[in-house]
Amino acid sequence: MKKDFSPTLLDFGPIQIFLARHFGFCYGVENAIDIAFRTIEENRGKRIFLLSEMIHNPQVNADLLASGVRFLQDNTGNQIIPFEDLTSEDIVLIPAFGTTLHIEQKLKAIGIQVEKYNTTCPFVEKVWNRSEAIAKNNYTIIIHGKPTHEETRATFSHAAATAPSVVVKDMKQTIELAKYILGEKPAELFYSEFKNQYSENFDVTKDLERIGVVNQTTMLASDTQAIADYLKEAMIAKYNLTAETVKNHFADTRDTLCYATNDNQSAVTGMLQVPADLAIVVGGYNSSNTSHLVELCEEKLPTYFISSEEKILSGKTIMHYNFKTKQELLTENYLPGTEPVKILITSGASCPDALVEGIIKKLISFFPATKSVDEVLN
Ligand code: SF4
Repeated sequence: MKKDFSPTLLDFGPIQIFLARHFGFCYGVENAIDIAFRTIEENRGKRIFLLSEMIHNPQVNADLLASGVRFLQDNTGNQIIPFEDLTSEDIVLIPAFGTTLHIEQKLKAIGIQVEKYNTTCPFVEKVWNRSEAIAKNNYTIIIHGKPTHEETRATFSHAAATAPSVVVKDMKQTIELAKYILGEKPAELFYSEFKNQYSENFDVTKDLERIGVVNQTTMLASDTQAIADYLKEAMIAKYNLTAETVKNHFADTRDTLCYATNDNQSAVTGMLQVPADLAIVVGGYNSSNTSHLVELCEEKLPTYFISSEEKILSGKTIMHYNFKTKQELLTENYLPGTEPVKILITSGASCPDALVEGIIKKLISFFPATKSVDEVLN
């Protein structure tokens, strides 16, 4: 049913839940969690560290901390435990997002076996390989991603080792970058405007003559497409290119979103075809892929981004996260007064399914005359 993106209806009578066809844990996250817990199991008595959060899910990270694992950095790269405290006897787990070459070399210098406990997702490695291929053909690499996100920092580090590289976080920055391509802005402004987002020795007057775009695996597909199209148009205008000559200045690549991001986003688009009262998106508040699912839902209907069932305080009030202002908000009367209430539900790639189940059970508990879960499942 891979190509079927219609949601699953769970009809409890007065409340109907439409569950996205694809949601929740992806291969990369399952793989990372599996390796992490196996490492803990096989290395009792050893000190085990995680470079940063394993994945962006508070429950999973709390479980790891409870098993004695400690974080070396927070998720913006600030050091919690200095690398100098590590010894070659310690184990350091590389998270699913991967890490920078600089950190990898630092750990290797201490004598830590980086390869053995590496949970970097193969779909992230695929982006690194794509960057390398673009670099081999002498293109500069433009990375569409969140500049401070672990994955983008890791991808940037790998890309910058092979070619000049720049990170653009959104269309607004892309429009500005295009102005440097077109010579509409003084070159020297680039270095302050894109501070911390370009590789060492980047020469804005030369390094934007041939470009290729890759992206963080969890961006919004339509955003990456729009960014690549915009930059392509800028190249066409600058060099007067035709369909045949465009490849001389713009590498023809498809986006580097991972399959889970693609499937979860397509499933949300499919789910949004159903007329509903509200949507609930479940996931960690710093999860990039989850915030994009929220964005898609918000375009259509009232959407509540929550991390667990505890955020549903009652049938009247809900505590939910605004990822743009980075604040939790309390909303009253989130359920409509009419029945049946129709609710769309999905979750991000780092969200365990048990959280979604807990939320569905909590929601149906506010309605007295519902069918039982077993009845609905049968
Ligand atoms: S969201 Fe995609 S890239 Fe990230 S861990 Fe999951 S499968 Fe890998």
